[in-house]
Amino acid sequence: MGFNTDLLHIGVSEKKQGATLPPIYQNSAFFQEVAEDLEGIFAGKKMGYCYSRVANPTVTFFEERIAKLEGGIGAVACASGMAALSMALLNILEAGDEIISSASIYGGTIDLFRDLEAFGIKTKYVKNNDWDEIENAFTDKTKLVFAETIGNPCLDVTDIKKLSEIAHSHGVVLIIDNTTATPYLIKAIKHGADVVINSSSKYINGSSNSISGILVDGGHFKWTKEKYSVLGQHLKFGPFAYISKLRAGLYRNIGVCLSPLNAYLNIIGLETLGLRMKKQCENASILANWLEGNYPDIKVNYPGLKSSFWHEIAKSQLEGGYGGIITIRVGSKEKAFSVINNLKIPYIVSNIGDTKTLVVHPASTISLHSSPKELEDAGVYDDLIRISVGIEDVEDIIEDFKQAIENSNK
Ligand SMILES: *Cc1c(COP(=O)(O)O)cnc(C)c1O
Repeated sequence: MGFNTDLLHIGVSEKKQGATLPPIYQNSAFFQEVAEDLEGIFAGKKMGYCYSRVANPTVTFFEERIAKLEGGIGAVACASGMAALSMALLNILEAGDEIISSASIYGGTIDLFRDLEAFGIKTKYVKNNDWDEIENAFTDKTKLVFAETIGNPCLDVTDIKKLSEIAHSHGVVLIIDNTTATPYLIKAIKHGADVVINSSSKYINGSSNSISGILVDGGHFKWTKEKYSVLGQHLKFGPFAYISKLRAGLYRNIGVCLSPLNAYLNIIGLETLGLRMKKQCENASILANWLEGNYPDIKVNYPGLKSSFWHEIAKSQLEGGYGGIITIRVGSKEKAFSVINNLKIPYIVSNIGDTKTLVVHPASTISLHSSPKELEDAGVYDDLIRISVGIEDVEDIIEDFKQAIENSNK
């Protein structure tokens, strides 16, 4: 089936009472008829639900839909994108391990990597797609490679196939944050990613009505006892080792479960992911071209523009567009604030992926805790504005940017 058909129909054949949407199982616990059944569930020998911190049918429905869309063997939904990221990493990391990460990533993830240092886990940052630098960063301690499909807010595009080949040649797993691209633009697993994370608070939910995150395991990575002894007894499950350990371990024990109501809101949002992404990509492309064509003093960064350093890799890898995010450099922080404050339609919000157009000044918000070096690597400048383009009529957005730029301080 095509992408949009899948969005609407995956899993519905298991409908209860003829409902075309899954019920919201807004309950904490599930009873069994006999004690033996609960014993079986706890021992992992019987399928079933016991407690919503461990698993919940509404959440399962959301997980199965995303797993199919990303092309994986299983998914784990969490209370936030950061929770999903934390789980994806900590599931296989131990004190002494090293992460190799693209330097141009989401500020919150840089903060998380810094937090992991207290647990003896070090992150080496590399320039995205700089194969020599990446190759040289590997040591015996390297446990995972991390990058974003489209860096937020740098808008650089990772060559996932090439990066996965390098990671795999070292026996190391590749974890990709696909939040900005979504499975609409790329099936990262097909390109070689092993575990894919989405902050579903963004495009998947679509209307900014709940925080959540989800990770998908592609099931292709060969977990070896030598490198990933941390998977312990779960190694016997082969391709399911990673998901099995996570579900029975940190996911349950730290307690990062997604609420059933938020899973339900995501399932509804997800139905229109294809339509929204199509429109957002179109609008972003039109706005980026218009800005670049009309304001030579404004530096426009969008992977869909031929002027983007990342255009060629974006073109060869992404399907159906170049994403809904644009960044512009307007010359100074004062000017950036003035443009932002003059805009009438976009909301000043540190979020992306909403149906509504959103703008933010990353340097003073999402990247506030980054060092000068981290800011430079992440492509965050004092005069940078990030625009998450919505599904409004694009003429209105253009008119609004026109008046905001022309009325702004010099
Ligand atoms: C927002 C975001 C996250 C974090 O997700 P939350 O749902 O806010 O916790 C992670 N990665 C990227 C690329 C993001 O944009």
